[in-house]
Amino acid sequence: MSLRVRYITFACSVAVIAALLLGGYNFYWVNRLTEEQAFDRLTDDARAVATQVKSRYDRLNNDVTVVSQTPPFLGIIRSMENGGIDPLDGSTTDLWRERLKTIFKATMRRRVEYVQMRYIEVADKGMELVRVDNRNGVIVAIPEHELQRKQDRSYVIAGTLLGPFGVYFSSIEQNVENSIPDSDLYVLRAVTQVRNLEGALFGLMVINTDFEAEIRSVLHAVDSPYAIYIVDDSGNYIQKAADGTISRIVTPVDKNYALPAQFVQSQRLFGELDDDAVGAAMYARADVGFDIENPNRHISIFIAAPKAEALAGAQKIQQVALGLSFVLVLVTAGGAFAVARRMTHPMQVAIERIEEYSTGAGPLELPTKRRDEIGDLSRAFTGLVESLEQSRSEERATLARLEAIADNTVEGLITTNERGVILSYNKGAEAMFGYTQSEAVGQSIGILMSTDFAEGHDEATALYSLAGRSEVLIKAIEREGIRKNGTEFPIELTISEVRINGTRIFSGIARDITERKMLERKLIDSSEALQRSNSDLEEFAYIASHDLKEPIRAISNHAQFLTEDHSDALGEDGIKRLDRIRDLCNKSERLITDLLHFSRIGRSNDMTQSIDPVEIIDIIKESLADYLTERNATVDVVTALPLLKGDPSRVKSVFQNLIVNGVKYNDRDEKRIEIGYEEPTDVEPGKFYVKDNGIGIPDEFRNRVFSIFKRLHNDRAYGPGSGAGLSFVRKIVERHGGRITIDSQEGEGTKFSFNLTEAGT
Ligand code: ADP
Repeated sequence: MSLRVRYITFACSVAVIAALLLGGYNFYWVNRLTEEQAFDRLTDDARAVATQVKSRYDRLNNDVTVVSQTPPFLGIIRSMENGGIDPLDGSTTDLWRERLKTIFKATMRRRVEYVQMRYIEVADKGMELVRVDNRNGVIVAIPEHELQRKQDRSYVIAGTLLGPFGVYFSSIEQNVENSIPDSDLYVLRAVTQVRNLEGALFGLMVINTDFEAEIRSVLHAVDSPYAIYIVDDSGNYIQKAADGTISRIVTPVDKNYALPAQFVQSQRLFGELDDDAVGAAMYARADVGFDIENPNRHISIFIAAPKAEALAGAQKIQQVALGLSFVLVLVTAGGAFAVARRMTHPMQVAIERIEEYSTGAGPLELPTKRRDEIGDLSRAFTGLVESLEQSRSEERATLARLEAIADNTVEGLITTNERGVILSYNKGAEAMFGYTQSEAVGQSIGILMSTDFAEGHDEATALYSLAGRSEVLIKAIEREGIRKNGTEFPIELTISEVRINGTRIFSGIARDITERKMLERKLIDSSEALQRSNSDLEEFAYIASHDLKEPIRAISNHAQFLTEDHSDALGEDGIKRLDRIRDLCNKSERLITDLLHFSRIGRSNDMTQSIDPVEIIDIIKESLADYLTERNATVDVVTALPLLKGDPSRVKSVFQNLIVNGVKYNDRDEKRIEIGYEEPTDVEPGKFYVKDNGIGIPDEFRNRVFSIFKRLHNDRAYGPGSGAGLSFVRKIVERHGGRITIDSQEGEGTKFSFNLTEAGT
């Protein structure tokens, strides 16, 4: 599921859940309030009835209290206590009785529910003094002989226990006359005390009222559509049904007693009940207390309504609330959907643009000007794409350059996979091997090289595997290449391994070395020719000098014989010339000997003997001891000297020549020769030196002194010489693989430095 759909679904779900919760909460409260309202209405109705019932009790209370204060009550007391005559005005007891009857009758005419009004004397066992009855609407005063004693009746007992001005209300009871209960008449009695002037209890004033009639007249006035039950503290009740019919009083012993038990048992002022008689109903209750001393004595009013009826108005509200909730859900879900869709729309557009761009259908146009996250994302993405495009175009340019280089290079550039299959092949290779690129690519590398060469390639592969490294450059190998026309030619191949995405690729650079090979051949040939001519020359010099020596010596001998045998004939001048001939012959012989010697240097035998230069110098010093002493010369080894490898007689010749020259070409009184060794540096090998404090060699002659028979001085200046010594020295040093150089200061001295093969190298 796309992020957008998820987001929209989520927003809608949240909105629907919120709306459902709100709607549910609303619905719950509407229910609760309508229920409360229904209870309130029932309670109001019950209270209204209770007020009416209470007013009946109040009227009774009022009547019994007011009437008991009328003059006849005290008049009767005074007349009775005074022998039948009232001392105050002379009225007889009977007169007072008549007057009281008149008051009772007058009262009862206004109060149609009253069935009896009486004045009872407590002292005389509850004897009725005055009594007026209402018998079916006829108000009659009861004659004296029909009056009864009521002292054992409960209301009489209760009345005697009252305080002054107190009123006692009896329970609802069947009326009893002459000990016979009247099943049709249920009465409520109101009793108050009558006291004499001293305040002592004399009698009781009692009103009996028809309870049923009282309640009926109350209920007639009530305008309630619900059933009403008026219940006394004994469980007797009168019911007004919903249709308005009012029942007779029903007592608990009646077989059609139908008061719901919950009314009596419950102490609650409202509630719900489910009764056989009533069904599912709601009820409210109001109590009318009539005994201050005992709050348990009360009349209860219950109003019960079938639940459906009581909540009938509420149902409409509920429906409206439900409808509203439904509309709320629809509106919020729709709103959430629209908002979420609108909010995610730019994202959708951006995705579509990116898709268009990636398929090449259009340029990349993202909403980069937006100030939200989509704007941030668009800017970042556009920047990324731009830098990618830039590096891609740079890459393309580099690739093009590299391809141009690869194509224009004369070398053959070839890449292969691990199995030697050609992957790429440049123009240089085309020119070299004669195959076109399309012919070569996909073929084995074997078509381009001899079997031997192919093996070399595999060797390289094996080497890579062993090394376990990539991009190792292997030393160039020389093999035979094969052209398309079958001709072979030498190539030099450099192979390296490249790993591209984990795949091993071998890249080879092939160079046609036909020309180089030819030059090499020529070089070898000419050096061989040179060597041959050198040895021919040496051979010639050797033979020539050897063969020349004989005739020269013979000339010298003949000259000597002439001098000895024919001195007179020759004369002084002749002898002088012959001596000169002999000198020249000796010189020639020396030169020839030197030449012979020089030519032999190249034929040295053993160049590998170990030599201690200090030992050699000691031998030289010993053999030259007289020579050195005569010339006041010293020879010192001033540093440690390393051991050497070479031909001992030749090495000795080097040192001896240099020492002798140092002494010979020296004007000083004290001639000093120093021999030492300079340690090797990064650029120079270790060097021996022989240094003197002689006349020095001018710069311009430094190379010439090494040429054979070249001298800077004549025999007279520094003694005779052939000019071959330094040429021997250089030849020996070079034969030992070394080089000799001169460092000199005219008039100061000369230093010859040279390197020889040191032992251990
Ligand atoms: P020779 O000593 O027989 O002349 P060399 O080959 O030994 O032949 O020397 C060639 C020339 O180099 C010498 O004639 C001399 O002039 C010069 N020479 C050689 N050694 C020294 C030196 N130590 N100091 C000055 N000049 C020298």
